[in-house]
Amino acid sequence: RISVRNLSKFYGEFLALDRLSLDIDKGEKIVVLGPSGSGKSTFIRCFNRIEPHDSGTLMIDGQVIDDKTDLATLRGRVGMVFQNYNLFPHLTVLDNCTLAPRLVRGTPRERAEDDARRYLAQVGIGEQAGKYPIQLSGGQQQRVAIARALSMNPEIILFDEPTAALDPEAISGVVAIMEDLAAQQITTICVTHEMGFARRIADRIVFMDKGSILEVAPPQEFFTAPRTERARAFLDQMI
Ligand code: ATP
Ligand code: MG
Repeated sequence: RISVRNLSKFYGEFLALDRLSLDIDKGEKIVVLGPSGSGKSTFIRCFNRIEPHDSGTLMIDGQVIDDKTDLATLRGRVGMVFQNYNLFPHLTVLDNCTLAPRLVRGTPRERAEDDARRYLAQVGIGEQAGKYPIQLSGGQQQRVAIARALSMNPEIILFDEPTAALDPEAISGVVAIMEDLAAQQITTICVTHEMGFARRIADRIVFMDKGSILEVAPPQEFFTAPRTERARAFLDQMI
């Protein structure tokens, strides 16, 4: 269970997150929506402390996440998949997936590789294990990034627009993988502009604007009867 209370963050003088509060249940699928610049990336990056917050509290399973938190341990528990995959270009697909378990967890190579092959098969690219990222399509690279995140066996995975850099065909592949993942008990916090995907997988939609959370609602409610004018305008312009 994740608990966010009055979380605020400044970039210099600019208030990027303004006293956000949210509770997320274990295994819950949260989709974060909102206009560009509303603070979606900043918010989800607080969960693994890529962006440290300035005030308020963030707790994961009763443990306070702050400047005393061991980052390697935290990032093992909270995986992240970025828009631009961020794979290590000099490592094979398999090594991309085994690096963190071996370095951070001390998993023996053979076991890390067995695990990685299983995750790569799960995301449909088992036969690409020996290739380098540059030899793969964007959609395939994003699936490697998902397998890499899974390889740490995280409790929480953050996705920041994982399909934004993909063409329509690759998008449906990655969305299908994520829908598959949704069946697992991993807590998922996902920023996306894929409204169909948001509708299908989200337990709750979090709608942000100007650094604030304006609405938190199940998708059928949010998409059919948004409560704020801002969300209505946002949805109108998405169609
Ligand atoms: P997008 O949909 O375009 O990805 P977003 O909702 O993810 O937008 P953020 O990237 O979280 O928005 O940015 C929120 C605000 O904080 C924006 O006004 C942005 O300009 C500002 N911001 C983000 N990162 C930094 C930074 N490193 N330094 C200064 N300002 C930043
Ligand atoms: Mg963003």
